[in-house]
Amino acid sequence: MKLLEYEAKNILHEAGVAVPGSTLVKSADATLNVPIVLKSQVPVGGRGKAGGVRVIESVAKLEQAIDDILQLAIKGFTPKVLLAEEKLAIKHEYYLSIVIDKPLAEIQLMAHVDGGVEVEENDPNSFLNIALDGSNAEPAGEQLAEYFDLPGQSFALQEMIERLYRCFIRNDATLLEINPLVYTMGGKLVAGDCKMELDNAAGFRHPEWEFEDKPADNNFVTLNEHGTVATIANGAGLAMATVDAVKNSGMEPANFLDIGGGANTESVLKAFRRIMEFPSIEAIVINIFAGITRCDEVARAVIAAKKEMPGLPPLFIRLAGTNYEEAATLLKNEHIVTLNSLEECLLAAKETTNG
Ligand code: GDP
Ligand code: MN
Repeated sequence: MKLLEYEAKNILHEAGVAVPGSTLVKSADATLNVPIVLKSQVPVGGRGKAGGVRVIESVAKLEQAIDDILQLAIKGFTPKVLLAEEKLAIKHEYYLSIVIDKPLAEIQLMAHVDGGVEVEENDPNSFLNIALDGSNAEPAGEQLAEYFDLPGQSFALQEMIERLYRCFIRNDATLLEINPLVYTMGGKLVAGDCKMELDNAAGFRHPEWEFEDKPADNNFVTLNEHGTVATIANGAGLAMATVDAVKNSGMEPANFLDIGGGANTESVLKAFRRIMEFPSIEAIVINIFAGITRCDEVARAVIAAKKEMPGLPPLFIRLAGTNYEEAATLLKNEHIVTLNSLEECLLAAKETTNG
């Protein structure tokens, strides 16, 4: 599950990593000192570019700004709270993350000297990657200090790596991303932003987990962040077979998703939102053989997703089983086409992704 920035920063703070001083804001009548940075607490990136992060310099502008950001939808999410943070005097913004490299079965530190909202503009091959094993923080810190051109921060970086690694392991994280890692005018390294994702499957050993996002009721696995075809299926077997069929047709599946027997409109819609975060999706293949799952719930989610997400790529839908008739009628009324087999879906998807 994905933590909100303030939840992730609480964990960083406990782990001994510097974060800006902050308070949570729920309404426009909050009393705050300026200058301050107001940040929308939504579980998606790109808030800066969307207007969800604003530096406020005068008290007169606070109320309106809080109201605006509380009402601003970013990628389909509106915040319940804002994080109000002390304004940092930024000298430079770096990128630092800990990720799991599944093919290599390694935990890796990833860094870039140019962090911040434009980090995606960097050449993917230009990131510094260091495999972490829990005992190499010292050389990793030295290497990072040299790469960041901060020779005086070698020890601070070593300590930060040590703490981040421990934090990653202890919390069963699958992603810990600090972007920007701010180097302040005063010569301090502070986590300006933090994204953290935790392994749902480890929930049983974390009774302390109390976050806004609940573990998903479906089973979503990212296979390739840059895949071109997203999949939605029900039942682990059918979901795996759907991924395999996409791959065998010469396309690149981005994800595995078993929406589960209890899937309802909202949970399927949530899956659509997650799919929309993939940067390269050109088609979505939906393969449902409904038993306990109900086709009409899936159809309702498809219709809602089309309304909510203007950028939704073409859908290739095959539905069969429980409540198929109702689903077909619902979709027909919205002029949404369904196909008779997975093979037909794949052929059509292939035409779209090649064209
Ligand atoms: P994101 O766009 O969702 O990743 O949100 P971030 O938290 O990374 O904020 C986006 C950008 O806002 C950062 O890269 C900074 O340039 C800027 N920003 C965030 N916090 C501060 C701050 O405390 N002071 C200043 N001056 N800028 C900030
Ligand atoms: Mn950021």
